[in-house]
Amino acid sequence: MAGENFSTIVPDTVIPAGPEALSLSDLDPDLDLWAEIDRLRKEKNAVILAHYYQDPEIQDLADFVGDSLDLSRKAANTDADMIVFCGVRFMAEVAKILSPNKTVVLPDVEAGCSLEDSCPPDKFAEFVARHPDHYVVTYINSSARVKALSDVIVTSSNAEHIVRNLPEDKPVLFAPDKHLGAYVQRQTGREMIFWDGTCIVHDLFSERELVKLKARHPDAPVAAHPECHDGILKHADHIGSTRAILDFVTTTPAETVIVATEQHIIHQMRKDAPGKTFLPAPGADGTCNCANCPYMELNTLEKLYLSMLNEAPAVEIDEALRAEAWKPLQRMLDMSPPATSQGKGAKGSKPKAAA
Ligand code: SF4
Repeated sequence: MAGENFSTIVPDTVIPAGPEALSLSDLDPDLDLWAEIDRLRKEKNAVILAHYYQDPEIQDLADFVGDSLDLSRKAANTDADMIVFCGVRFMAEVAKILSPNKTVVLPDVEAGCSLEDSCPPDKFAEFVARHPDHYVVTYINSSARVKALSDVIVTSSNAEHIVRNLPEDKPVLFAPDKHLGAYVQRQTGREMIFWDGTCIVHDLFSERELVKLKARHPDAPVAAHPECHDGILKHADHIGSTRAILDFVTTTPAETVIVATEQHIIHQMRKDAPGKTFLPAPGADGTCNCANCPYMELNTLEKLYLSMLNEAPAVEIDEALRAEAWKPLQRMLDMSPPATSQGKGAKGSKPKAAA
C-alpha cells in the first residue's frame, strides 16, 4: 500500500463525532448495512457522492460516482439536505463551500490527502507573498484555507484548459502537485513555478517495472493520470483525469490497457468495458500494491452508515473563510469547459454476495 506509515493533519473545518455518537464497537454485526443506509438516505434526504477511488461496495451504493470536477458540480447543484461525501476531506470541504446550507458529512475524519498535507496554509501564504506578480492556480487537492489564498482552482480535468485561458501577462504559481503542474506547463508552454507536493500513490509507480510490463503486453496502451511523475507519463499513450481515463478505456480498440492511477477505478472500467483486461501499473517491487490510496481506503460501509446516523464527522467552515474559498472555486466552474461526459448515477441493487 502507498504510504503505509501515512498520517494526516485534521483541519479545524472538520468536526469529529462527539462522545455521545455511536461508534464501530456499538454496531450489531448482523445489521443489514445496505438497508440501513438506504433507510437513512430517504429519512434524511441525503445524497451519497463517491469518488472513483472508493471501495467498489461504496461506489455501487452511491447515488453518483465521479471525478473531482463531476463531484464538485454535483455538490453545487443537489437539492438534498445532506451530502455524504465518500472520498477525502478536501472533497467534502468543497461540497460545503459550494452548498453551505447543506449538512456535509464524511465517513472518516482521517481521510486526508498527501497533497493537502504537503501544503500548510501558513507556508503557502508565505510562498504566495514572495511571488506577488504570479497568478495563483491551485489544484483542488488542497485545504479550504489554501484555496482561499488562490486566484483559481483546477482539477486534473480542466487544469490545462484553465491555464491556457488565463491572462498571458502574468506567470503562474501552481500548487500543490508539482507533477500535474509540470504536465500543464509542458502542454501550455506557460511560465510557471511550482509548490513541491506529490501524491503518494502516483509518485510510487516505477518506470523500470512499467517498461517490463509493457514488454510483456506490447499491444496494451498505457493510460496515466497527470499526478504521475514524468518517468511514467513519457510512456503513456493517454494522459488524463480519472473520467478521461475511463472514456479512453471504453473507446480504445485495445483489449488490454495498463492503468497508471489508483486501482479502485478498475471497478468502473470493468463495468464500462466488460471483457477488456486492465493491468494496474506496478510499483518498485513489480506489484500494483502501491496503487491503493491509504486515505480513500479508510472509508468503509460501517463508517459511512455511522456518519449518516451521527451526522458526523461534519464539515463546518467559518463564513469568512468559506466566502474567500468560494471565489476561486466558482471561477473554476465558470472557466471549465462544458461537461462532455460526467460521472454516473450509480445506486444499484444490493450485491448478491452481501445479501
Ligand atoms: S490518490 Fe493521492 S491525490 Fe488522491 S486522495 Fe489519495 S493521496 Fe490524495
